[in-house]
Amino acid sequence: MTKYATLKQYQPYIDVIRKDLKIPDNVYVEVKFAALRSSRDGDCTYHHSRYMVVRVSKFLLHTEVLDTLMHEFRHVYQRVNKLLVFVKRGKELWNNKEFIQYSARKNWNGYYNAPWEVDARLYGEYNKILFPGGKLPVQRKYIGKVGKITFYKI
Ligand SMILES: [Zn+2]
Repeated sequence: MTKYATLKQYQPYIDVIRKDLKIPDNVYVEVKFAALRSSRDGDCTYHHSRYMVVRVSKFLLHTEVLDTLMHEFRHVYQRVNKLLVFVKRGKELWNNKEFIQYSARKNWNGYYNAPWEVDARLYGEYNKILFPGGKLPVQRKYIGKVGKITFYKI
């Protein structure tokens, strides 16, 4: 039986990504693993500053899921920090400068080169560092300090 990506499986990774991006707890991001249109790995739909929906293709390989989750949560980060601000349909502000929001289907180059996409791709690439070998970072439990030496439970 083919195993598809599920929210249950990826929730611990999502927690790490949210923490890495310092996304406040009062921002609700609904994550859905779905059968997306082919060629689409994921998307992020902005409803308002406290509610966004991230969709990820459930057919992706593990490292692709991590890359995509990080990419889409970077869009959440951009919205939360007002780096990317919705103006009106087809118009966005990036760093207070107006840009056209191109649809990937109608203008691939325009979409691909939008500064928020470049930024999100860079963050997606960082999955290799945040999740070495595709694994969750080892949580080291703090035990205490003796002099200058900090002790962790392995
Ligand atoms: Zn994107």
